[in-house]
Amino acid sequence: MKRIWQRIRDAFGFRKNTKYVGEYLDTANMRSSIYMAIVIAVLEIWLIARQFHKYVIPQLKGGSPFFQTVFLNTSNFWLLMSLGIVMFVYALLYVSNKKSSARLFTMLVVACVSIVICLMIPFEFKYEAIKFTSRTNVIKAILKISLYATIFLFDAFVIVASIYKYKGGTNKALLSVIVISLFALACLIFGIMVSYGDFVSSAKFDSGEYQHKQIICFLMMSIYVGCLLVWRPYVSIGILGAIFLGFYFLLKSATGIRQFPEGDEINYITFFVSLTMISISTYAQRVEEAKKDEELELLATRDTLTGLYAYEYFTTIISRKLRDSNIKLEKWIFLFMDITSFKVFNDQKGFEEGNKFLKDVGDFLTKSFRNAIISRQSDDHYVVFCPNHNIEEILTSINEGIEHLDLDIRPGIKVGGYVLRDKNEDPHLSVEKARYACTELKDARYGIFLKYDQEMHDNYRKIQYVVRHVDEAIEKGYIRAYYQPVAWAKDQTICGAEALSRWIDPKYGFLTPNIFIGALEDSQLIYKLDLAMLRIVCRDLRFNMDNNLPVFPVSINFSRHDFVVDIVSMIDEVVNEYNIPKHMIHVEITESALTRDEDKLKAAMDRLHELGYAIWLDDFGSGYSSFNVLKDFNFDVLKLDMKFLVGFEGNEKAKTLIKSVIQLADQIGIKTLCEGVETQEQAEFLHKVHCGRLQGWLIGKPMPYEEFKEKIISKQLTISKEIE
Ligand code: C2E
Ligand code: MG
Ligand code: MG
Repeated sequence: MKRIWQRIRDAFGFRKNTKYVGEYLDTANMRSSIYMAIVIAVLEIWLIARQFHKYVIPQLKGGSPFFQTVFLNTSNFWLLMSLGIVMFVYALLYVSNKKSSARLFTMLVVACVSIVICLMIPFEFKYEAIKFTSRTNVIKAILKISLYATIFLFDAFVIVASIYKYKGGTNKALLSVIVISLFALACLIFGIMVSYGDFVSSAKFDSGEYQHKQIICFLMMSIYVGCLLVWRPYVSIGILGAIFLGFYFLLKSATGIRQFPEGDEINYITFFVSLTMISISTYAQRVEEAKKDEELELLATRDTLTGLYAYEYFTTIISRKLRDSNIKLEKWIFLFMDITSFKVFNDQKGFEEGNKFLKDVGDFLTKSFRNAIISRQSDDHYVVFCPNHNIEEILTSINEGIEHLDLDIRPGIKVGGYVLRDKNEDPHLSVEKARYACTELKDARYGIFLKYDQEMHDNYRKIQYVVRHVDEAIEKGYIRAYYQPVAWAKDQTICGAEALSRWIDPKYGFLTPNIFIGALEDSQLIYKLDLAMLRIVCRDLRFNMDNNLPVFPVSINFSRHDFVVDIVSMIDEVVNEYNIPKHMIHVEITESALTRDEDKLKAAMDRLHELGYAIWLDDFGSGYSSFNVLKDFNFDVLKLDMKFLVGFEGNEKAKTLIKSVIQLADQIGIKTLCEGVETQEQAEFLHKVHCGRLQGWLIGKPMPYEEFKEKIISKQLTISKEIE
């Protein structure tokens, strides 16, 4: 029962629509108005021509006064034509929502002309010689005054609306509803006026013969108001009911003059019922369409998790804003925001909580920024385009708010800002620059907000360059392998080397990995560089083997992003191509690689082991999950990060820590290497606590292959007899 009641309520349009659906219906009405306005304007032009041909010209030839003849025969048609033209331009402006001074001007001129014609109503009464003697004449006069008054009001509202729009106002639904309602009312009054006039005059002139064919005019106008314009059905039924009843009794009251036939009465009522049904069904259909459209638009424009703008849509709105308005660029700023510790949060609290957290952050941003366009770009990255005012204060308060969302982990924000200089810059690029500034904020010591500056700009250009030129650099040999020796701790003889990449570029000169590795990782191109390095190393080893020069195992760095592609097969293919024994190549993977997509990585590592490669864990101790990593993955050698040795001298704690880690590795059967060994004292200590291998400036800096070879020949470096 409740559902049936609900359905009836919906059918009659009592349910509140969403803003989107409301706007959709408004726009649909405006579109219908365009067509109806064209019909009216064209029809009236034709009628004016016809009146001139049939009446005006012959009467003028007969000597009638000019103004009176023209006015009497055509004034109504001029008026309706102006109504059609004004409505047409207004609807066009509304639908396209563009600023067009030419259209606004045309509309204003025609509306003013229309008002002037309205003000000429006294001439109507004068020339038509309407005397308020009979009842029909009074009704005719009232209809005529109503028509003129409605059109006058219509023009007045259109003028107000266009001034508002010219001053930069957006489409206002209320003004448009008034304009369309007055337009519809004018049409209905005109229909009634013509039909009534015909009905009573045919009675008068044809002495009781039933003509009133002009009733069609009334019905046509009713169809338009009832069906083409989508009112809520209860409004349509209300308007149509009142008009039909009023008109019905109006005609009935005229039957003192003559009879209102029964057949027509039935047709008339049937017509009314049909119209109301059509208006109900049109409304239902439009609302349904609007809802579907809304859903589609939501999908395309909103981020489903936070309800913020989807990133692509965000960039589209900004492009439009920059193009269409005269905003002062320095007064606006792009912000790129990263949540710190979100990965820890997600790991510890789970996916659901993580999602809730991201949504809460989104709500926080919406509350904190005024006049801003906000989007979630991906994962825990948000982007904001907002007025460049009080940014640091706002961000500090957001940071505090976010910290309070979880008091154990205390997540926070890191934000990069970028003020646009060129209106035509692609917003994707602007966001990238803000993001770049954000990534420069390495840790909390540097604060939570950093603006993109000239130095960053130069670096950013370098990064862009790197990403674009990596293939060329590999092909033309700009990428070089530098070898850093690795030695046994017991006697400091060389047991291997690590290949470290250098990019010697014709434009930017000598580039170190900290410039290009991150950029290539972000663009997922790092595998190209790593494979190129492997190829160089294999080529050098092959050369040594073929020329009976000393050979040693080389470890090569592989990034976590390499495992997105089938890197294991690619590695094996290159090594086989040069016919290098597998034990001569060590695969180095950094600890941070192991926090993502573990299963995939484990499978890759198992395959590497099966194929005969040793796997070394790089930078152990630099991430937060070090010990778990040892538990979950199988490594052959553990490389202690050079941070362990920072402040080593006289620091007993550091020494104990290193000793414990080495013991621990020993107990679980993993060999050890310590990176960053710079002093003899460090080397001796490491040997004492049973660290197997050493790497660092004490043994040798990374150097080109030729230099490495020379050092071996000149015995500055001694290759150990035990290499594995
Ligand atoms: P890593 O693999 O931990 O390499 C060790 C880094 O420490 C090297 O820096 C090396 O020059 C530096 N180093 C070695 N001994 C000492 C020392 O005694 N004192 C000091 N202060 N530093 C020392 P580099 O060559 O700048 O490389 C930095 C990082 O870039 C590497 O760290 C590695 O993670 C990455 N990388 C380098 N080449 C490649 C490559 O071809 N592919 C990939 N994926 N990453 C690479
Ligand atoms: Mg390494
Ligand atoms: Mg390392």
